[in-house]
Amino acid sequence: MKPGDTKGDDSRVKVEKSKENALKRIVVAIGGNPNSGKTTIFNHLTGSHQKVGNWGGVTVEKVEGRVVRGEYEIVFVDLPGTYSLTAYSIEEIIARNFIVDEKPDVIVDIIDAGNLERNLYLAVQMIEMKGHFVFVLNMADMAEKQGIRIDGDKLSTLLGGPVIFTTGIKGKGVDRIVDEVIDVYENREKKVRHIHIPYGREIEEEIGKIQAVIRKDRILSSKYSTRWLSVKLLENDKEVIEKIKRYFRFYDEIISQAGKSREHLKKIYNDDPEIIIADQRYGFINGLLKEVISYEKRDRIDISQKIDKVLTNKFLGIPILFFFVWLMFQVTFGLGAYPMDWIDRGVRLLVDVFSPLFPEGIFKSLLFDGIIGGVGSVLVFLPNILLLFLMISIFEDTGYMARAAFVMDRVMHLIGLHGKSFIPMIMGFGCNVPAIMATRTLESRKDRLLTILINPLMSCSARLPVYILIAGAYFGNRAGNVIFSLYALGIVLAILVGRFFRKTIFRGESEPFVMELPPYRIPTVKSVLIHMWERAVVFLKKMGSVILAGSIIIWFLSSFPAHEEISNNTVSGADTAIEVTSVNQGGQEDIPIERSFIGMIGKAIEPIFRPIGFGWQEGVSLITGFVAKEIVVSTLGVLYVGGDNASGSMDYGNLGSVIKQRSGMSPLVAYAFLVFVLLYTPCLATVVAMKRESDSLKWTLFGVGYQLVLAWLVSFMIVKVGSLFLVV
Ligand code: GDP
Ligand code: MG
Repeated sequence: MKPGDTKGDDSRVKVEKSKENALKRIVVAIGGNPNSGKTTIFNHLTGSHQKVGNWGGVTVEKVEGRVVRGEYEIVFVDLPGTYSLTAYSIEEIIARNFIVDEKPDVIVDIIDAGNLERNLYLAVQMIEMKGHFVFVLNMADMAEKQGIRIDGDKLSTLLGGPVIFTTGIKGKGVDRIVDEVIDVYENREKKVRHIHIPYGREIEEEIGKIQAVIRKDRILSSKYSTRWLSVKLLENDKEVIEKIKRYFRFYDEIISQAGKSREHLKKIYNDDPEIIIADQRYGFINGLLKEVISYEKRDRIDISQKIDKVLTNKFLGIPILFFFVWLMFQVTFGLGAYPMDWIDRGVRLLVDVFSPLFPEGIFKSLLFDGIIGGVGSVLVFLPNILLLFLMISIFEDTGYMARAAFVMDRVMHLIGLHGKSFIPMIMGFGCNVPAIMATRTLESRKDRLLTILINPLMSCSARLPVYILIAGAYFGNRAGNVIFSLYALGIVLAILVGRFFRKTIFRGESEPFVMELPPYRIPTVKSVLIHMWERAVVFLKKMGSVILAGSIIIWFLSSFPAHEEISNNTVSGADTAIEVTSVNQGGQEDIPIERSFIGMIGKAIEPIFRPIGFGWQEGVSLITGFVAKEIVVSTLGVLYVGGDNASGSMDYGNLGSVIKQRSGMSPLVAYAFLVFVLLYTPCLATVVAMKRESDSLKWTLFGVGYQLVLAWLVSFMIVKVGSLFLVV
């Protein structure tokens, strides 16, 4: 490239930059209830100009998009979808803080026109926060189908901002959002009309008193809406109290006034002020709806209610749910087996074709055993994961998932959790990673943590290869029952541990909640696919990198320092995708891997497992299994069968009998080993997911630790108690 070229490029960039600087920048927050069509509209508005990140310090996704229109650069920020703006969940706090602290120029509230009442609860809380609003009544098509007529002009007057009707999936009306945003921005000085929700004389009086104290801090009270802060204080909002503590000079005085006001109101109403305040908001909404809404006919609601009569029926509900869950597994694992096989073959072919091209040695071993083996081990599960997510997306988008939670509510109360926690538990049978991600739908942090902590006890599909291997070898035609007993043990322990934690560390009842039962909807193929894909990408990006790193570490540990001696017999490349650690060894008598770091670790930890009866090989496989539980199988293959058999088409049946001959484990100990695999520390990807979702290292470590202890204790007890009854 000539130097001149670079220069030309540079100056072009500069021109563009300066042009951008001349643009007027409008920051727009997009808020709204979950499922109101936020993402659909956001995508329509910003196309591919999106930036995905996380909200500071938390795991909630933050999406930003840019649109240039005329002399304006409009930055849309997608707030997390929430039903209200109390400080109930992380999402709510994020959405709220963004509006309060960042003061976006314009707030666009996406409202599901077909569920106006529910959606207005959020809208009303937003207008209390002051700001400049555009109200988008999306799903106009649905509202029309339901025979709901909405008087947009009147609604606009009552809410204090322009109202636009859109049909997000068709993109109808969406462009007008940009026009209105610019209009509101340009006229923000003139057109301001702040709507107050009237709370009645008593509450208004107390609001006034608190406002008076807050206003003593001139600077801050010009930054925040004093009315909003006062209402929040009356509602005893922990977040706002914290905020005031941090920033306001007259903290003590403010809090003491708020306390007095709350007491006063409690006496008058004989109820908590937050309840009275919520009642008033609903009152406001009801009044507003009477003004703006008229009905023609209510087809969709009727149909939904009819379907619900069957799907949430007292007796039929649970069997139907189990049928759907069964179907989900059939699709996920039955259908998934084919593409899984293709990928497996593809990876083998890749290895077969390319591995002869590389000289034997450490680099080849790293590339094929470590990296391709490791990444391949994630890749083979992609079809299962995609299908699982596809099914879950369909359940969610049709509205069935909410019904599942509703139906299971009573059962989940056994663990002190409510129905919503059931969804992650079901998903756990597939893979604990997405299951733990699914706990985001739980509002209460306690419920979230508890669900995350017991989730790995649901036996995920990665443990199945180990069960099949060992149970097949030891228990012959009773293997099926043995495997079933493991799944059952996992569920029983999840219930017991859940109850125990609920009674000790997460004391208190699960938070009461209203199960939203949105009307059924036939999802569009596009939106189901998008939802599925979004999740899959998160999974691939985050977990792929972790598994890659973990695989390399294990490869390293099993290849050094003994690598020099064994590099000559390194497997010639036909490793299956999941055999990450298939560094080659000699026979049983002389096992170089014993001299590798992992062998040393195995020897070092042997005493821990000796009371249960596991050998050092089992110990090592449990360690490598930490990366992904399937690796327990490939590790045992490497340690027991050695090079030739560990490569290529490893015969699980055969490997099982070799283990049975050589390991010296009795059937009882072998069963204890399976129980250990079921219960012990979740795989690396799950631990990472736990950390991401709990946002707490402490709880993550606690989860890992308690499971290790549980696994050891239960396995030990099985061996000890079992040997009293069985003569093996
Ligand atoms: P979000 O949760 O608010 O981000 O909502 P999404 O954008 O994911 O939309 C939820 C569902 O509603 C998806 O299945 C969309 O395809 C669908 N949807 C979005 N806008 C409309 C609309 O105007 N009419 C209808 N009928 N469906 C819509
Ligand atoms: Mg969305």
